Amino acid sequence: MHPLSAARRLFLKRLSRYSAGIALLAGSKTSFAEAKTALTGIRISQASSDHTRVVFDLSRGVEHHIFSLSNPSRIVVDLSQTRKSAALAIDQQTTNLLGGVRSALRKSGELRVVFDLKNDVTPRSFALQPDGNSGHRLVVDMHADGFSPTPIVTSQQQRQKQKKDFIIALDAGHGGRDPGAIGKKGTREKDITLAVAKKMKTLINRTPGFRAVLTREDDRLIKLRHRVKKARDAEADLFISLHADSFHSPKVKGASVYALSLNGASSEAARWIADKENKSDLIGGITLDDKDDLIKSVLLDLSQTATIQDSLEFGNDVLKHIGKVSTLNNKKVQQAGFAVLKAHDMPSILIETAFLSNPSEEKKLRNSKHQQKLAKAVFSGIKAHLKQRQV
Ligand SMILES: [Zn+2]
Repeated sequence: MHPLSAARRLFLKRLSRYSAGIALLAGSKTSFAEAKTALTGIRISQASSDHTRVVFDLSRGVEHHIFSLSNPSRIVVDLSQTRKSAALAIDQQTTNLLGGVRSALRKSGELRVVFDLKNDVTPRSFALQPDGNSGHRLVVDMHADGFSPTPIVTSQQQRQKQKKDFIIALDAGHGGRDPGAIGKKGTREKDITLAVAKKMKTLINRTPGFRAVLTREDDRLIKLRHRVKKARDAEADLFISLHADSFHSPKVKGASVYALSLNGASSEAARWIADKENKSDLIGGITLDDKDDLIKSVLLDLSQTATIQDSLEFGNDVLKHIGKVSTLNNKKVQQAGFAVLKAHDMPSILIETAFLSNPSEEKKLRNSKHQQKLAKAVFSGIKAHLKQRQV
């Protein structure tokens, strides 16, 4: 950031603080401590050699000011009416760009956080609403000067540019010591998802212009983020996670399609299912918190909003086609905070093909012919969506 603009920002900020102060004086005499937002954590991660991401965890949304100072290079983040939580945890991690973090409470009621830099950086900040296991967050991206962040390019644009096959990543849910849901007859979700994924792969690979990649080819447990990495390494244009549901009531049945939400789940049921599917990593021996941190700090990106829209559109067409071969549990694409869907650069959907807890659906899911029908329906939905877009 240019030093002049930093000085101007500082001046403007001071002005706004004075007016805020006046407003507070004129207000009632409620306790300031009660009125304050609590800062509960500062997390630092090196997203790449020239990109550092800092995430502030907050008890609620907060107004903030951010500006750069030089000699030595610093970034200052002022959080208005904010206090440090008693349990505040600050990452003391340094990165290629970041040397250290300091904080101080200011008389004005602001909490000032100063980042000491090793290089000049351009900061970019944005707020995130509570989502799944995460609360209010303020994200500050620091890019080394002379580096421009990757522009937002949709998978369709990429494809037009390179004229390559449309690559579909098929993620057979669960695996290894994580069986997923288990039906009355002992049908394991992990086996059904792999069977359907393999059938889809065959269908896709014999269609010109399409190629399929599986995140797992056999009965093994793969961490959620490794599934996403595998798809990304293959430069997939679309990510499909396959599952089979279960519920305490055997009467509940039907397929659902989910897309990621950044703003909480679209229904209680959606939240419940997301929690259940996300637990896969707990069984794999790493904590949900670990993974969640990583996903929050590395995978979240501004382009995610655009990708979610893409995911919803793909999801709707897939749902329509599944509806031709199965009962639907939800006639609309549901949204929730699925960890496996947090791939910021490709549209991603999660399909609950049916309920293993429903005896008649369990029987259908075990049936190879029905699996083939499902595979065909999902692929038809994808093709229909792409045709509509004339890609
Ligand atoms: Zn599952």
